[in-house]
Amino acid sequence: MIASAFEYHKPDTVDGVISLLSKWGDDARVVAGGHSLIPVMKQRMTDISHLIDLGGISELKGVSIDGDTITIGAMTTQHELATDEALAEAAPLIREASLQIADPQVRYMGTIGGNVANGDPANDMPGLMQTLDATYHLTGPAGKREVKARDFYEAAYFTAREDEEILTAISFAKPSGGFAYEKQKRKIGDYATAAAGVMITIVGGTCTAASVALTNLSDTPVYCGAAVDALVGSSLDDTTIKVAVAAAVDASDPVADTRGPVDFKKYVAGVIVKKAITSALARA
Ligand SMILES: Cc1cc2nc3c(=O)[nH]c(=O)nc-3n(C[C@H](O)[C@H](O)[C@H](O)COP(=O)(O)OP(=O)(O)OC[C@H]3O[C@@H](n4cnc5c(N)ncnc54)[C@H](O)[C@@H]3O)c2cc1C
Repeated sequence: MIASAFEYHKPDTVDGVISLLSKWGDDARVVAGGHSLIPVMKQRMTDISHLIDLGGISELKGVSIDGDTITIGAMTTQHELATDEALAEAAPLIREASLQIADPQVRYMGTIGGNVANGDPANDMPGLMQTLDATYHLTGPAGKREVKARDFYEAAYFTAREDEEILTAISFAKPSGGFAYEKQKRKIGDYATAAAGVMITIVGGTCTAASVALTNLSDTPVYCGAAVDALVGSSLDDTTIKVAVAAAVDASDPVADTRGPVDFKKYVAGVIVKKAITSALARA
């Protein structure tokens, strides 16, 4: 199908975007890579009169590493995330997860900002950002504000972002220790049936810090606090890992769909979390 008619705008500053969003309100939408928005426009599942392209705003692009803080501009593509050598050295988990998104064609266009702002529970970056305890930087008519990724997602496609705000960047502390992003999908290029991001730090045989989060196992990404509590302070023995995996599966709340019934998804969640913990442990 063909999208209904809309006016196309391409401002070159964030202020320009905000003033267009303020002017047109609900009738306007920003477009980044277009790989989620354009398909729904073509299917006429959403009707937008003003499309605001973020592609002309250079300040929204690129990766910067400043001491212990990594900042990624919202318009940085998944291809750039997967190929940036400095980023791969500072936060290898980003490359590992980016390479599991869709296929090269999608990754050339899809941006980190569109992936996390969309609020699609099937997107991989929101779960990854829970794992990294990232901060989202938003700008709107009232100025700038920050929201933790773990507080951002309210329900499928509902987030803490106001209609007239845009996401400008994502930042997080340089991760340390072992890491893994494991994803089970039906075929190459597919969204996750279940995916998990895990980080583990070990000092003197004891786990001193951990992070566990899930993708596409609820209507929002899930940070698994109980699984983390089980891991931290332990020697990461088999019994502890079993308890952590069970806690993560308990935290999931999948729905039945074309990727399988609820029991199957919970089973896959257990397998994938165990695999992610084991891989992270091997690298810690
Ligand atoms: C065939 C296919 C397979 C895919 N498989 C996967 C997969 O396995 N894993 C995965 O994670 N993703 C997958 N995707 C999604 C893709 O990776 C993109 O990340 C995703 O489409 C959103 O990024 P985008 O830049 O294209 O955003 P767009 O489609 O341009 O925008 C998406 C939404 O976010 C809003 N938005 C965009 N940028 C901003 C911003 N800076 N501030 C505020 N709002 C903003 C838009 O208004 C829109 O509502 C797949 C897509 C396709 C087409």
